[in-house]
Amino acid sequence: MTEVKIGCEFHIQLNTKTKIFCSCSTSSSEEPNTNTCPTCLGLPGSKPAFNKEALNQALKVALALNCKINKRSYFSRKSYFYPDLPKNYQITQYETPIATEGKLEGIRIKRIHLEEDPGKLVHQGAITLVDYNRSGIPLIEVVTEPDFKSPNEVRLFLRKLTTVLEYLKVYHRKSELSIRTDANVSINNGERVEIKNITGVKPVEDALEYEIKRQEKEKNIVRETRGYDADKNITYTLRTKETEEDYGYIYDPDLPEISLTDEMLKESKESLPELASERAIRIIKQYKISKEDAEVLTQELKLAELFEAVAKDISPGLAAKWLRRDLARVLHYNKKELHDVELEESHLKELLKLVEEKKITDQVAGKILEKLIEKPFSPKEYVEREKLIKITSTDDLRRLCLEAIAENLKAVEDYKKGEEKALDFVVGSVMKKTRGKADPVLVKELIKKEIR
Ligand SMILES: [Zn+2]
Repeated sequence: MTEVKIGCEFHIQLNTKTKIFCSCSTSSSEEPNTNTCPTCLGLPGSKPAFNKEALNQALKVALALNCKINKRSYFSRKSYFYPDLPKNYQITQYETPIATEGKLEGIRIKRIHLEEDPGKLVHQGAITLVDYNRSGIPLIEVVTEPDFKSPNEVRLFLRKLTTVLEYLKVYHRKSELSIRTDANVSINNGERVEIKNITGVKPVEDALEYEIKRQEKEKNIVRETRGYDADKNITYTLRTKETEEDYGYIYDPDLPEISLTDEMLKESKESLPELASERAIRIIKQYKISKEDAEVLTQELKLAELFEAVAKDISPGLAAKWLRRDLARVLHYNKKELHDVELEESHLKELLKLVEEKKITDQVAGKILEKLIEKPFSPKEYVEREKLIKITSTDDLRRLCLEAIAENLKAVEDYKKGEEKALDFVVGSVMKKTRGKADPVLVKELIKKEIR
């Protein structure tokens, strides 16, 4: 068995309106190099001014991750020479970060620090373009201890972390790409290899799986920094022998220390919203749903909000089932995420009310849900217009069953010979005739009665 050890550095763009050391917008929808000023372009003579909102958000994350907060922390200059960094140094926290010693899901968090994002390099064939719109966007770096034992654990952790960030409103699920991971991985206590700059959540797992296989195959693993090519799903050597000392950190003389008072900490603690784990505990109590349902429903803020809005008016058990299973299935099938679709609470409520009152069958409701994630409409009006109310008259159903029996004599014969499944064929035929408007259990009973 290969023993795997992984430690991660997650770089997360905060959700501020302006950059960390200047008042340029952080909006990502502008033309390249338009959200810039002398400070984020690193022009000589420009001075940074620290954005307090970035501090507020970093503090919330640190508290939510159960960290020890350093009341005094500092900014340093990390020197390196690269086109994405016009000053030739990145402002970051090195010697004393804002927070240390946290924990999430049993994984120890070594430190959290604030820093500025460098510009973005865009490679176009032989030429490389630089976009400084990203330069100076506030980042926090969450550094874990090497506590992960598999790539899958890293992915699950990253999902939990994004949930925390989402509840704190410092992160939009839409912008999964705004999280970049550096991962250190070693196997069987061998040399440690760092994979840099993996974007997104699933690619982190893919990159680590590839890298572990590579290390298992190769005899001489050297300490190095590797890149990850997501299209080819491979890691490749970037550089070897590089240590933190190579960056020549020095304190930044242009920025004062960050000093936090007890009041500021208290205020920040009190401003923390209800987090996913707390919400799960509350909704189990409040709505009497299972722990498992509550955990799934609270993983995504929008899903949790949708559930609570719907569960006020219809049976929470029914709401939990439909949101957790049916909605998830429909989204998954259409390769969509909840945050991509315009699903309105009122429409979902109408739909589930029709199910609860047994006016439509589950099958019809499932079909409507598929349409609802395409575009908003009133399920109630739709059901009336398309005449989708459940057929409750057994006379009507019996007539359709007799038709189906006559049309599927072979299946009926097979059933009589003991092939239980053959009957589903006849039931399916009735369901088709009714466009899903019949209760399949009742239809089965009726057919059995007729062919006995
Ligand atoms: Zn600027």
